[in-house]
Amino acid sequence: MGPTDKELILRHIISNNGSSFDHLARVSDIIANGQWSIPSTIADNFRLANINISTIPPPLLGEDIRVWKPSLTGYYSVANGMKIHREKFSKIHWSKLIWRKCIHLSRSANIWKILSGCCTTDKRLQDRGINITSRCFLCLKNIEDDTHLFWICPFAATIWSWIHELFGFQWNLHVQNFETVTAHATTRSAAIRDLWAAAITNVLTEIWHHRNSCIFNNILASSRRVKSKILANFFECSILMKITMHNRVEDLMIFKNLQINLRPAKPTRVLQCFWSLPDLDQLRIGCDGCSKGNPDPSGAGVILRDHTGNTIGTMSAELGICTNFVAELLAIILGLEWASDRGWSKIWVTFDSQTAIKCFASDKVPWFINSRWHNIRKNLTIKFSSVFREINFAADTMSKRGANLPLGTKETFDHRPSFLAVENPNTCYFRFS
Ligand SMILES: [Zn+2]
Repeated sequence: MGPTDKELILRHIISNNGSSFDHLARVSDIIANGQWSIPSTIADNFRLANINISTIPPPLLGEDIRVWKPSLTGYYSVANGMKIHREKFSKIHWSKLIWRKCIHLSRSANIWKILSGCCTTDKRLQDRGINITSRCFLCLKNIEDDTHLFWICPFAATIWSWIHELFGFQWNLHVQNFETVTAHATTRSAAIRDLWAAAITNVLTEIWHHRNSCIFNNILASSRRVKSKILANFFECSILMKITMHNRVEDLMIFKNLQINLRPAKPTRVLQCFWSLPDLDQLRIGCDGCSKGNPDPSGAGVILRDHTGNTIGTMSAELGICTNFVAELLAIILGLEWASDRGWSKIWVTFDSQTAIKCFASDKVPWFINSRWHNIRKNLTIKFSSVFREINFAADTMSKRGANLPLGTKETFDHRPSFLAVENPNTCYFRFS
């Protein structure tokens, strides 16, 4: 998480007004009789930073603890320190295509060099000031650059056309580039997506290797030799591949054309799930949290329902920039605090994230909600249950709505709003996996 607006303002105040802020002060110095006793100088700083003192959770008492803020656990680790300081580059859209279990690492490294523009083609040498005459060694006609060598060259076109035919995909010489070729398999089974990624890798690397053989071993270009090498590479790929195929003719034909063993087809499992009512005097809270990216603007959704199934409260909240996991934890805290404020004491929290539920059920919550969690749990009887997302869709809708609200705002209803569909206790829902 990056620093919040409040943290930035606070940092600014401290740097400009350092004399009034004692850096050796302890939290326990500003607690008296179990309550916050904040001196006016510090209270002014909070006010300037737009922090409302009355909303700070009551102190937990006990020993002061030192917290390493960038980690969820509050403990410093070398790995975490590295994570903060390491230089991050923007993500390359083709990284997931080339780094796959079914593609040998050496081959992934080769394709990485080709797509990163590290291959010393004639054009690249000329650009670096080396005075050479360029001629493509595969077609012996055009000058050699990346676009010609890998896509337009008649030799490369023969290989691309052949591989498209084996997969049953459409090949068009005039609109070929990496993006259009990778798009062919996006809607196919996991096995075909893997094989097509391997096909692209094999074709590009074998064209490059063959071009090198033509130059340095002084041999003539042979598409037959390249094709047989590509087919041999598919055998290696079939051994490394661990995923499933669809039991369909299109998939079976591709495996047959590539002369490799079939992969098992995964049967679809259908599970029934029901949304059940809470006990008498018990409140059921459906929670969900979401982040548009990870991390990115996030939202929390909370649904309160009583023992008759009535929706007695719904909430959407904007949480600022955080990860999915943090949004999920905050959704549970917001739900519990809201239920407690409304006078409920017996609470059943249902959530579709097992990790978030486990944090609360095992009492190992991250440091930044520790105080709120311990404060809220004192007065409540709480039961946690993990449910399928198929019966948590109302909270999901509210959390997505929350992510689109203005920064730091909350929207609550004391009934079911007309845009919201809630789970029906008399309906059987299905989960396909
Ligand atoms: Zn050529």
